This record gives sequence, C-alpha cells and structure tokens, in this order.
Amino acid sequence: MEVRVNKHILIFDAGTGIRNLGNQLIREFHSQPVTLHLFISHTHWDHIQGFPFFMPAYAKNFQIMVYGPPARNKSLKELMKIQMDMEYFPVPLGDLNAQIVMQEVHEPFSIEDVKIIPFYVNHPAMTLSYRVTAGARSFIYASDNEPYRYTLHAIREEQGASPSGAGLDQKFIEFLAGADFLASEAQYTLEEYRSKIGWGHSPVESVVELAVRANVKQLALFHHDPTHDDATIDAMVKHAQKLLEIQKSNIRCFGAAEGMEVKLT
Ligand SMILES: [Zn+2]
Ligand SMILES: [Zn+2]
Repeated sequence: MEVRVNKHILIFDAGTGIRNLGNQLIREFHSQPVTLHLFISHTHWDHIQGFPFFMPAYAKNFQIMVYGPPARNKSLKELMKIQMDMEYFPVPLGDLNAQIVMQEVHEPFSIEDVKIIPFYVNHPAMTLSYRVTAGARSFIYASDNEPYRYTLHAIREEQGASPSGAGLDQKFIEFLAGADFLASEAQYTLEEYRSKIGWGHSPVESVVELAVRANVKQLALFHHDPTHDDATIDAMVKHAQKLLEIQKSNIRCFGAAEGMEVKLT
C-alpha cells in the first residue's frame, strides 16, 4: 500500500503487490534520486516476499528506508536478509544497488513534517500498526491483527470474552481514534473466525466495531482471505456497510483492491 504525503513516498509492507509498484516508481522517476520509506508490519511471508522483486532496490538512485519491528531473537535486518540468502534467492540483500537503511522502530518519530506512531497489535509475530499524521490528516495502516479479548480467553480456556483483553482492545481503539482513513485487515467472516481464533486475523464484524468506536471517517477493508473470491469479498463489504447503517454511522466503508486510489481532501 502506497501513501503519498506532501513530497514523501510511504509504502506499507512488501507483499507481492510491491512488484508492480516498484515498476511504476522506476517509470515515474527514472534516474532521479528518490527516497522511499518502507514500513514493515511484520515479516510473515505475505508481507515481505515481494521485496526481492522490488526493482527500486536494484537502482542506485533510490534510497530505501526500511522501518519495522525486530523479532524476539533476530534483528529486522536479519529477518529481511534471510529470505534473500542464496538457498532462496540468487541476489543477496547486501548486493542491491539502492542505499538500504534498516531501522527498528518502537517509539513515535517524524519524517520531516510527517509524524509516525507505531503500535503493537495482536498477531502471532511481533507486528506493528502505523499511524501517519501530516497537518490535520491522519492515515492508519492496520494489517494482521485480531481482538485480544477473544484470544486471551481462548488461551486460558475461559468462557466469554476476557476483561483484560478488552482493556488491551480499548488501547487499540485509542490509537485509531478519529483517523481520517483506516486501512484495516478484515480477513474472515464471523463464522470462519470461530474456528480460527488465535490465528491473528479479525472477523469483519470486529473491524466495523473498532472503526465505529474509534470514530474513523473512512474504512478500507483489505488483507482479503486468499480463498475468498470477489463475490465473497463484495458480500463481506456489503455486510460491513449494513452494520454501519444499522448503527447510523456515516463511515465510508469499501473493499480495497490493487490499483485503487483514494485522495484525502
Ligand atoms: Zn501475519
Ligand atoms: Zn498477513
């Protein structure tokens, strides 16, 4: 997912979609010097496997600032390097022509006039969501996560939702509060989620609830399940819109798709 803000180019995660984005950036900038800011939520395959095919990484006029969380026992750089070891890929990370700088992030920081707030979310790997603020506008990238209140009670084999989990979920709502745009994962239907608690993904109903409680203005649903066809995703989006309507919410909700552009005015 790419965000253009003022003169900065921010990219969120490096799944297979980053290959097309890279080709577009090469066409747009040719040999001009460009800095890209790449935010990695976590290093599960679907969030990094496009990076070896990201052409700007091979071009010496590009500087790529990579931000992300470390794993418990590996640095971000090691995590990114492993998938390009010679057993997996012919070009090692260190041989790429772009200037690549890896930076582990935990605390809020700024890229000139753009403020970035990282926030740990509930997923079976160290995973960050990012809030981007520039002037009066804010954007949130919230990929793989699920509500704490269901996973914590499942771990403890308790009945019902966990009160301590609900407290952690409330912290997430505070992080999301008032955003102009929330790009959120919504991988499952509620029925699917019941057998996938603890897998680190949310049912669309929980995402709608989060968006309403956080009072965001727009909600883009993404990280679609690979087994869902377009009709299934359309039905999930319609269901989300219906839930918003019932709650008299005026949040604009839609399904994100490759190539889609949204302007925050
Ligand atoms: Zn994941
Ligand atoms: Zn994922």
